[in-house]
Amino acid sequence: MFGGLSFRHGVHPPESKDLTAHVPIRRMPFPAEIILPLRQHAGKPARLMVAKGDHVERGDKVAAADGFVSVPIHASGAGTVVDIGLYPHPDGTMAEAVRIKLDRFSAQLPRPRIVPQWKGLTPAQVVAAVQEGGVVGLGGAAFPAHVKLSPPKDINIEFLLVNGAECEPYLTTDHRTMAEYPERVLFGVRIMMHALGVEKAVIGVERNKPDAIAALEKVLPTDIDVTVQPLTVKYPQGAEKMLIKAVTGREVPSGKLPMHVGSIVQNVGSLAAIAEIFETGLPLIERVVTITGRGVKKPSNLIVPVGTRLRDALAFCGGLTEDATEILFGGPMMGMPQPDLDAPLIKGTTGVVVLTREDSKPRHSYPCIQCGHCLDACPVFLNPQLLGQLAQAGRYEEMETAHLADCMICGSCSYVCPSNIPLSQMFALGKVALRKQKAKVA
Ligand code: SF4
Ligand code: SF4
Repeated sequence: MFGGLSFRHGVHPPESKDLTAHVPIRRMPFPAEIILPLRQHAGKPARLMVAKGDHVERGDKVAAADGFVSVPIHASGAGTVVDIGLYPHPDGTMAEAVRIKLDRFSAQLPRPRIVPQWKGLTPAQVVAAVQEGGVVGLGGAAFPAHVKLSPPKDINIEFLLVNGAECEPYLTTDHRTMAEYPERVLFGVRIMMHALGVEKAVIGVERNKPDAIAALEKVLPTDIDVTVQPLTVKYPQGAEKMLIKAVTGREVPSGKLPMHVGSIVQNVGSLAAIAEIFETGLPLIERVVTITGRGVKKPSNLIVPVGTRLRDALAFCGGLTEDATEILFGGPMMGMPQPDLDAPLIKGTTGVVVLTREDSKPRHSYPCIQCGHCLDACPVFLNPQLLGQLAQAGRYEEMETAHLADCMICGSCSYVCPSNIPLSQMFALGKVALRKQKAKVA
């Protein structure tokens, strides 16, 4: 079943991972304040549970899950809620958030808590514990992890696919997590296999992380079927459908999910976060983030409290260089430019990349020369050239007919376009315009 195939199309952008690939993870000291947006995951935002003036301990809940596709938000440090209001969000908007001034002299010890014993729990109890722990997909999508643990009863899940591809240039968050915490990742795999009732798990890791592959292989369990599958380096292999194709040869049809081909995909960082719940009882209140790029003085892999402001994380990494021009949350292919240094690093923040003048020279766009390179690059076999023409003309409904919904905004088409047409950015705007049109009709 597992042939180690690759997916078709895709691109090979410069990896630029050398800045942090071998830099051990460090723990960042607690900042003076944290900003916790209620919207940090796909699904319904969390429901506020605290008021201005409340005191919270590290790990206390500040917002509850609002429904099944939602997770709670916990305080990542002990302190006092000094405001609840609109604050800059990494997605470029202003969003409701809890601002906590951290206690300067606190030992930051969480309250004593009961650590759930996973072996005695039913799958439904594991799902509830993972939801209560606020765990989301840490690879960037921030989809609540417990939802993936409870697929519909009529769907047969054959195996767990662990996503250690980390194909986005610059980022080394997953790489360092696998290299430094392989046991924790595998504990997460064990719990997830138990909850899903599957007997096989495969960890897909690109070959440019040999130390991560070696670290995982060294601690592979012998009592359950877990293997590491080294993968050819190719972007966007970390996209779920591409990873499934690369590892199993199976294609997820348009409009379908990984579970429809018998698989559930989970990121390595999310598995480590699940393991943490059953090791210490602590919810997701911190995460590993790569802070990198030639525009930051000391590129690093850090454990940061969720809600740390960008400016504090950058300051801990020595600050910006004089020629720093652009800051991205995420990598250069799919990342989001950050205009505001007060935006917080949230659960879904995989990394911060600071580009220099040299890296981000303004590029002029020219008319399409119909070279077809974008068609050859698109991993889901769309026609980006046609979609680009429709986007330029504002013909969004026709973009839908041309399968815009299948576009992952991976940026491969923009990357290869010799005319520098910002195709994927146009497709992202097209998706927003369509959503707005549909909301109006409804
Ligand atoms: S951004 Fe969309 S259209 Fe472009 S290559 Fe990626 S999936 Fe294809
Ligand atoms: S790569 Fe650019 S120039 Fe070439 S066909 Fe696609 S949109 Fe046109």
